[in-house]
Amino acid sequence: GVAAAAAPPEAGPGPAWQSKCPWGAPKPTSISCSLADVMSEQLAKELQLEEENAAFPEVVAVAEGPFITGENIDTSSDLMLAQMLQMEFDREYDAQLRREEKKFNGDSKVSISFENYRKVHPFDSDSSEDEVDWQDTRHDPYRADKPTTTPKKGFIGKGKDITTKHDEVVCGRKNTARMENFAPEFQVGDGIGMDLKLSNQVFNALKQHAYSEERRSARLHEKKEHSTAEKAVDPKTRLLLYKMVNAGMLETITGCISTGKESVVFHAYGGKSTNEDDKVIPPECAIKVFKTTLNEFKNRDKYIKDDYRFKDRFSKLNPRKIIRMWAEKEMHNLTRMQNAGIPCPQVVILKKHVLVMSFIGQDQVPAPKLKDVKLSSEDMKKAYYQILNMMQRLYKECSLVHADLSEYNMLWHDGKVWLIDVSQSVEPTHPHGLEFLFRDCRNVSQFFQKGGVTEALNERELFNAVSDLNIAADNEVDFQAEIEALEKVNEDHVQKHGKKVSAFPSDGDPPIYDE
Ligand code: ADP
Ligand code: MN
Repeated sequence: GVAAAAAPPEAGPGPAWQSKCPWGAPKPTSISCSLADVMSEQLAKELQLEEENAAFPEVVAVAEGPFITGENIDTSSDLMLAQMLQMEFDREYDAQLRREEKKFNGDSKVSISFENYRKVHPFDSDSSEDEVDWQDTRHDPYRADKPTTTPKKGFIGKGKDITTKHDEVVCGRKNTARMENFAPEFQVGDGIGMDLKLSNQVFNALKQHAYSEERRSARLHEKKEHSTAEKAVDPKTRLLLYKMVNAGMLETITGCISTGKESVVFHAYGGKSTNEDDKVIPPECAIKVFKTTLNEFKNRDKYIKDDYRFKDRFSKLNPRKIIRMWAEKEMHNLTRMQNAGIPCPQVVILKKHVLVMSFIGQDQVPAPKLKDVKLSSEDMKKAYYQILNMMQRLYKECSLVHADLSEYNMLWHDGKVWLIDVSQSVEPTHPHGLEFLFRDCRNVSQFFQKGGVTEALNERELFNAVSDLNIAADNEVDFQAEIEALEKVNEDHVQKHGKKVSAFPSDGDPPIYDE
């Protein structure tokens, strides 16, 4: 309904549609408004904005989505409850709005959409439903004109009939009339027809609420159109993040660092520790949110299904829990690495499928991946030996194989290499553990050989240096076959003697490479 809607409201008797308007035709008002009024309104708006920005950091601010329907939602927070109630209210409001819209348009050929007045704007609503026509134009026919006369003296009348703007009755009526200036979606009831007098206090409270609602609505629209990162995070996850901020554990969540197939990583400034054990929260944190869209994780089954640590649990779990297990796995693996002194993010907290860890980088800038940084040949060599050492310690001290080790999952920070992304890491005795290790070795060898490190071992030498398995084969195919044979021997052992198995036999214990 573009044509009718775009027309500005005419002076004098309103056009026919006005009589049908559910809010009634706007009455011409000649309310005085002092400069001080305008200023304070502006100030209030500004303060409101400031307050909102502080209270609702960007990434977690948007509160659309079905909070109410979620199972297991912890309702301990008052603010959360308030938000949930608001959501419920908004949904009811939208339903009412839809009925009004239908009634208003009837079977008229020209129809007006109330879409923009809706409180809840679902992500996945069909775009045709979101189409904006006249609402986007400057002049909204539903919005009463702002009072135009602005007498500077602050009073009206003459002699003994003089009344100032502080007069209670005048002020009350004025406030009631001014409610018409709130956005039409803000329900004010039928106060205007009833000669309702609002106290300044009530009026101001309503005004604040109307402004914040307008802001919220605007923000929803903005987000809907511009944010791709947020689409990756569902409402329940946002709620979780929001609670971390609300609890003061995180100061603010500043934005998204990475959107992958299986996870989204955010940057946050750390807050205060919330419990007594007084674990200091790092000044900057990375929040890894494991995606709850299940199909992305299908191809990872083999990592976790055969990991004996998770074997008993796997069969009993629903997909949502399996995803939480990835996060849990990353946490355990990081902790092992931390204990072995391998440079990696430090675990801060795990909540469901959300893992908070220390941020590798500074001032919101994440450390570059090894693939993106141009190192001097000296640093390159240094990085290589450091990685060799880390792979050995990971294998021997942590009893882990990274299983996705490459220049994509190593960051260069503070003049050294940091290992990240260890949710898929497995123990060497995992049925495919040695194959994963061999793949890791291939990635590392190739990267450093291409990078001009002449000392770099080839993948087979590297594999032996890490595992001490001393496989003698001098070609890829035979080497691979021996690896698989070893895995088979191990599997048989597991079948016979139960799940916990000793590490692979190795002759002697050559020292770990010392940087
Ligand atoms: P995935 O590759 O599975 O999406 P990662 O754990 O590799 O998940 O994280 C994706 C990206 O996010 C990394 O490549 C890195 O750039 C960034 N990142 C992850 N964790 C951190 C961290 N603790 N500090 C800084 N950046 C991080
Ligand atoms: Mn990664």
